[in-house]
Amino acid sequence: MASRPRIAVSSCLLGNPVRYDGTGRFSETICTHLARQFEIVAVCPEVEAGLGTPRPPVRLTGNPRHPLALGVEDASLDVTAALLRFSDSWLAQAKTLSGVVLKSRSPSCGLRDTPVFDRHGAVQSSGAGLFTRVLTRHYPQLPVDDEVSIADAKRRNAFINRVEQYALGRCGS
Ligand code: SF4
Repeated sequence: MASRPRIAVSSCLLGNPVRYDGTGRFSETICTHLARQFEIVAVCPEVEAGLGTPRPPVRLTGNPRHPLALGVEDASLDVTAALLRFSDSWLAQAKTLSGVVLKSRSPSCGLRDTPVFDRHGAVQSSGAGLFTRVLTRHYPQLPVDDEVSIADAKRRNAFINRVEQYALGRCGS
């Protein structure tokens, strides 16, 4: 039997207790719809960068184009370098993938709606988390979406189609 396309999923969406407060964010949609069709690989950039669980929460702060991941309660905590180092090291694994589903609004995994704060704690814009920025910069064609988007059946089917097409392209290349 041909192997199924492999996708990576933010580990917390699989129900793993990897969030800063030791909880998960189980996604029924991923575990019912996507797990049937694809081989799923879990990734948690914050844990795999060595930040531990539980850990102080961080948020994106500063220049929206190049934000830092600083502590919410203590802005002297800067985990930017650790997250970027892990993200760069993970790119080799991404070569084997045909898609990625990420956790929305996360300073690491968010795709489009992660808030970026100014130094006074006000939201100034929104964008992708640090891990996602590295991933999408290196693999701009790789199908990537988040759990909010794929909860919608139409968008989920579009994502599934993109993954299948990408996997076909990888086999043929
Ligand atoms: S959003 Fe990403 S970094 Fe945060 S707990 Fe989930 S997998 Fe880990």
